[in-house]
Amino acid sequence: MDEAVRKRLIEAMARTVIAHADELTELDRQIGDGDHGLNMKRGFEAVLEALPATAAKPLPEALKGLGTTLVMKVGGASGPLYGTFFLALGKTIPDAPTATTLAGAFAAAVEAVKARGKSQAGQKTMLDVLVPVAAVLSAGGADLGPRVRAEALAAAEATIPMKAMRGRASFLGERSIGHPDPGARSSALMIVAVCDAIGA
Ligand code: ADP
Ligand code: MG
Repeated sequence: MDEAVRKRLIEAMARTVIAHADELTELDRQIGDGDHGLNMKRGFEAVLEALPATAAKPLPEALKGLGTTLVMKVGGASGPLYGTFFLALGKTIPDAPTATTLAGAFAAAVEAVKARGKSQAGQKTMLDVLVPVAAVLSAGGADLGPRVRAEALAAAEATIPMKAMRGRASFLGERSIGHPDPGARSSALMIVAVCDAIGA
């Protein structure tokens, strides 16, 4: 994978998160403390600043660099979790991924998030998007890009009727029902942005 593609991928994620910061913050205001968009914007602004240096590195190192920046700059619960995701992804992915090696690396990154968050799908978190997207990637097949996009967006919406069992939203108990999870939404936005950026 060449430098221009790495740059496009990372920049696409950063731009979409920054463009949707208000929406993410509003979602977090409903079931959390209203900082998710701000946290993510701060982190991805730092990612953009570091982008020339990051994109110059091979994909595994670039992803680890992205993860490190997110751990240091996002904060909250989501910073360490997204940081863990990209660090684990960078550890497993080859420099020129195929659909198969990408699926394997994505699955490993999802497992790392579960371990870090002591969480799993069904608890109204980012994992409710990451886990089903990992399943679509692992199943493979034709039209992977459109199916990944559709799954990510639908899975984020599907957190609306869920009761939060992890993170701040869990303090609300039943009152967390009826709102989308902010981290599920930010995960979906990044996944869609990557699909768009690679024309998948
Ligand atoms: P904080 O909750 O500390 O304010 P953010 O608002 O930035 O952090 O992020 C909240 C998001 O983090 C939630 O919407 C949820 O998706 C995710 N999250 C929180 N705790 C966990 C966990 N244990 N496992 C997976 N995701 C989590
Ligand atoms: Mg928050």
